[in-house]
Amino acid sequence: MAIIGIDLGTTNSACGVWQDGKARLIENRHGELLTPSVVGLDGEKNVIVGKTAKHRLLTHPTSTVGVFKRLMGTKHAIELGDRRFSATELSAFVLKSLKDDAETFLSEKVEEAIISVPAYFNDNQRQATKQAGEIAGLKVRRLINEPTAAALAYGLHERKEGTFAVLDMGGGTFDVSVIEYFEGVMEVHASAGDNYLGGEDFLEALVSDFLAKHDLKKEALGKEDLQRVYETLERVKCNINAPWSSRLELTLAGRDIQFEASGEWFKSCVTPLLLRVRNPIEQALRDARIPLAEIEEVLLVGGATRMAVFRNAVGKLFGRIPSSHLDPDLAIAMGATVQAGLKARDETLDDVVLTDVCPYSLGTEVVDPGGSGRAGYFLPIIERNSVVPASRVETLQTVEDNQKQLQVNVYQGEHRLVEKNVFLGSIDVKVPHNKAGEETFDLRFSYDMNGLLEVDVKINSTGNVINHVIEQSPGTLSNEELEKSKARLAALKFHPREKEENIELLSRGEHLYSMYLGHERTMLGELLAHFESVLDGQNGTEITKARQQLKELLDAMDKGPLQ
Ligand code: ADP
Ligand code: MG
Repeated sequence: MAIIGIDLGTTNSACGVWQDGKARLIENRHGELLTPSVVGLDGEKNVIVGKTAKHRLLTHPTSTVGVFKRLMGTKHAIELGDRRFSATELSAFVLKSLKDDAETFLSEKVEEAIISVPAYFNDNQRQATKQAGEIAGLKVRRLINEPTAAALAYGLHERKEGTFAVLDMGGGTFDVSVIEYFEGVMEVHASAGDNYLGGEDFLEALVSDFLAKHDLKKEALGKEDLQRVYETLERVKCNINAPWSSRLELTLAGRDIQFEASGEWFKSCVTPLLLRVRNPIEQALRDARIPLAEIEEVLLVGGATRMAVFRNAVGKLFGRIPSSHLDPDLAIAMGATVQAGLKARDETLDDVVLTDVCPYSLGTEVVDPGGSGRAGYFLPIIERNSVVPASRVETLQTVEDNQKQLQVNVYQGEHRLVEKNVFLGSIDVKVPHNKAGEETFDLRFSYDMNGLLEVDVKINSTGNVINHVIEQSPGTLSNEELEKSKARLAALKFHPREKEENIELLSRGEHLYSMYLGHERTMLGELLAHFESVLDGQNGTEITKARQQLKELLDAMDKGPLQ
C-alpha cells in the first residue's frame, strides 16, 4: 500500500507518491499541485478546502480561515462561522482533502503518510501534526524536518557528507536552516527565521506604495476595489522576473488609473524587505558555529524564493549562485515523498531534531508603536527560536496620567496583533500615581526547558517585584479528545469532488463578475445564471458541457487587465 509524502504548509500544501523509482507529485481535484491551506464552511455546513476556500477568504471572512499552522500545538480555538476548531482539526481537513485527491489519483486507499514539519517545531507541535493526520484517517509513519526534506529532494543524501543552508521563504515566514549530512544522518544545526517576512509581505509593500502613489487610502476603497488591487499586484509580483514591465489599467474609486509596474519600481518597494534577509542567515550561521565559507550549497525553497531580487540578494550574501533547479514551492513535498520511498524500502534517512529552542515568540500587549494610542499590539519579548532556557527583559512605561494599575497580558504567537495570538495569562500590578510615561517597569520573561514561563514585573520607582508563573497548556489531545474530534469531523460533510468543481467555478465567476463592468459583466452574468439552471437540472452531460463553456470564459477573463 502506498505511503504518501505531504508538505503541510502555512500557505500551501502538496503531496506525492513514490512511483517507478521517483517522486511523483499528485494533482488535486483542480488539476493543480498546490492546495492552499485554507479551510471554510459554507451555508450548509459543508467543509471547503483549498482553492475554493481561498477565493472565499475575502468574500466570506468569518467562515474561512488560513495560516492556522502558526497555532499548531495550542488549544487556541479558531472560529469558523458559529463553530470553533483547533489548528489540529483545521489541518486535518487539509490532510483529508489531500488524502482524497491521492486516492483518486492512485485508485486505491491511502492510509499512511510522511508529513514534513518545521525544524523548530517542538514535541507538542509534532504531536499535534501526527494527530491531525490521525483525525484525517492517516497513520503518520514519521515526520520529517522541512529542511531535511528539501535536502532529500535536491538529492544531497546521495553525497557522502556536507554542510548546507536551506532558505525557505513561503507566504508568511522566512526560515533559514543550517544542516549537515554525515553518515546517513541529516542534522539540523541551527534554524533561525523572521516570522514577518514572506511573499505576502512583499505583496503588501507593493500595495502600500501603489496606493500612496495614487493618493488612495485603503479605508476609502471598497472591498472589491481593494481586492482588485491585491490580485493585480500579486500577478505583477509573480511575473516580475519577465524582462518587460506590466502596464496596469485599473478603475478605482471611479478613477481610471494607468500604471507602469516596472522592475525598478518593484525593487524600490521591496528593498527594505530584502535588507531583512541577511539577519536570520547570519544568526543561523552564528548559532551553528559554521563559517559562511564552509557552506557547500545553498538550497532555495518556498514560492517567494522565485523572485529574482531575492535570488540576487542571497547570491550576493553567500557569494555563490543558490541551487534552484527544483520547483521551490514543491521541493518539500518532493522530499517528503522521497522519504516515503525510502521508508517503503526500509532504508530511511535519520534526521535529528532541533529541540532546545523556544518554538513560539512570547510577549506582551502594548499600545500602537505607530503612536495612535490604540492597544492590542504585540511586543515579542522572547523571540521564537531563542535557545532555552532564555530570560529577556524589556522596560516599558505607563500610558495614562494617574494610571493606578498595570495589566500585563501575556501572549504567545507571531502576529503583530495580540488578538491573533494565544492568550496565556494576565497579571495586575499597582503603580504609583504619576504622569503618563513617568512610571517605568521592567518586564522580565524567563522560559525554561519544560515550557514554564515565568513573568516578573518590577516597578522601578518603588523596586516592587511581582512574580507569576504560567504553565503553557500543551495542545496535544488526549485519546478521548482525539476520538471526539474524529466524530465531530466525521459529522461534517465534504462536497463530492464533482460538486466541488462546480462550486469553485461559481465562486470564481461571482468574483470576476464583481470585478468587471459593461458587456463582459452582462455576458458573465448570463452564463452564470445558465450554469446554475443546468446544475438544477442534474443532467450529467449537460453539466459537463456548461461547465466547460463557463470555464473557458473565466479563463479568458482571468488573464485580466495585465497585457
Ligand atoms: P508556505 O510554505 O507558506 O505554505 P509556499 O512555499 O507555497 O508557502 O509560498 C507561497 C508564497 O510564494 C506566496 O506568497 C506566493 O505569492 C509566493 N509565490 C509563488 N509563486 C511566486 C512567483 N512566481 N514569484 C513570486 N512569488 C511567488
Ligand atoms: Mg513551506
